[in-house]
Amino acid sequence: MPAAPPTCPDCAQTMKAGGLVLSGREDDGARTCQALWRCPDRHVWWRWADREDDPLEVCPYPNSSGPDIYG
Ligand SMILES: [Zn+2]
Repeated sequence: MPAAPPTCPDCAQTMKAGGLVLSGREDDGARTCQALWRCPDRHVWWRWADREDDPLEVCPYPNSSGPDIYG
C-alpha cells in the first residue's frame, strides 16, 4: 500500500519516512498528521499524510523537536 518514497526536492536523494506529526490543518479544520521525510543530507520535509499528491514542504522541526512527534 505505501507508495514509493519521495525524493528530496533539494538533492534528489531517496528519503526515509521520519514519523508523523499530529497537527491541525487550517484550511479544512481537520485533525490529521504530517508525514515527515528525511534525506541522507538531513533535509527534512513534510506533507499531509492524507494528501500524498501535495508537494513536500520544508519541515519547521528539523530535529524532530516538535511537540507531537510520533515515530
Ligand atoms: Zn536532501
